[in-house]
Amino acid sequence: MNHTISKSLYEKACKLMPGGVNSPVRSGKAVGFSPLFIKSGSGCRITDEDDNVYIDYVGSWGPLILGHSNPEVVAAIAGVLDRGTSYGIPTRIEVEMAQKVVEMVPSIEMVRMVNSGTEAAMSAIRLARGYTGRKKIVKFNGCYHGHGDSLLVKSGSGLMTFGIPGTPGVPDEIVRHTLSLPYNDLEAVRGAMNEVGKEVAGIIVEPVAANMGVVAPAPGFLEGLRQICTEYGALLIFDEVITGFRLGPGGAQKYFGIAPDLTCLGKIIGGGLPVGAYGGKKDIMDHIAPCGDIYQAGTLSGNPLAMSAGLAMLGVLSRGEIYEQIERQNAYLCEGLKEAAAAAGVPVTLNRVGSLGCAFFTHGPVTDLESAAKSDTQAYALFFQEMVERGVYFAPSQFEAFFVGAAHTTRDLDLTIEAASDALRVVKRKCSPDL
Ligand SMILES: *Cc1c(COP(=O)(O)O)cnc(C)c1O
Repeated sequence: MNHTISKSLYEKACKLMPGGVNSPVRSGKAVGFSPLFIKSGSGCRITDEDDNVYIDYVGSWGPLILGHSNPEVVAAIAGVLDRGTSYGIPTRIEVEMAQKVVEMVPSIEMVRMVNSGTEAAMSAIRLARGYTGRKKIVKFNGCYHGHGDSLLVKSGSGLMTFGIPGTPGVPDEIVRHTLSLPYNDLEAVRGAMNEVGKEVAGIIVEPVAANMGVVAPAPGFLEGLRQICTEYGALLIFDEVITGFRLGPGGAQKYFGIAPDLTCLGKIIGGGLPVGAYGGKKDIMDHIAPCGDIYQAGTLSGNPLAMSAGLAMLGVLSRGEIYEQIERQNAYLCEGLKEAAAAAGVPVTLNRVGSLGCAFFTHGPVTDLESAAKSDTQAYALFFQEMVERGVYFAPSQFEAFFVGAAHTTRDLDLTIEAASDALRVVKRKCSPDL
């Protein structure tokens, strides 16, 4: 496959932007790959600047659950485009959007729109601290909640990909208030809360961890967190930036039947435009300015273009028709990948929750950061490259999810499994044979 134009754009980009990218996870550094530059997307396919076409399992890292250039979303954006792009004054569509989110997400009675998942998580943490008058936050190793200072401790995503444990630029005084515990370890949570529970403002968790690959919550884990938070007067914060509108119209909280106090949303909620949101019980949300005195603001928040894309997306998703299909499709894909790995003699553990999946290059099982980190990242890097050569684009990191959407047909999945069969045989041949 010819990548001449992508390579020359990357060369130029590296002189103009740090690492040639606007977000580290797009870099091919971890998989020894010069990143593709994409010029268009349609359905489940993307086309790069060299006119190569790929079946895409990144989907902009989750938002594009209906595929690229979904007609309903595109029409919605086009429908508002010629009426102005931003006013900084309330609009009707913000009310419609809030109404839709409140209808769809069980625990949200009131919502505030922001512009990214990072902003949603940062703001939810501030609210939890302001509301409880406490400083400490509990999070989990391998969970990513955006790049806000107090949450960049043992985070997954790009930090895990590039082996960055914490980050320079965040003062110790700030992360001193953040406790990061092993995912799925309720005993560790009980132990920590036993000691400092009365100082903990909130426990923030990805209800399905999807930034260290994909790790499902162990039975009882989320229920336990709910109980512990209630016991200690701490807020339970679900970071549903990935799981929201992905596991079902009501997100992970509906899927698992647990009501958090606050919920962070992002990715899908913007229909591919930059949107985030946080929401929860009215008596907590009422503490946000100008109703209360906890300050949080945004010049472009609730932007009409972004709201129209998001509202069109949620309109389709609230019909609920796609979820059974995409979950079934992902089960089919994972089963196919598993068989392909077994046939090639490569140990791969397939984790799947709904339409989220991850192929860990390890014997498994993978239940937390420690077990995820045992994966053979070099084997994954080779797998990634071999898949690109065969026209399939997975994330350029072992520790990211793949996303199956409504635009992937069974034929696309078969092509993917076929490509994986070949790619895994190459992995077997070139990587350590006793992998
Ligand atoms: C992507 C992500 C974020 C950050 O969202 P951005 O829009 O990238 O700022 C936060 N939490 C989770 C769980 C995410 O997957």
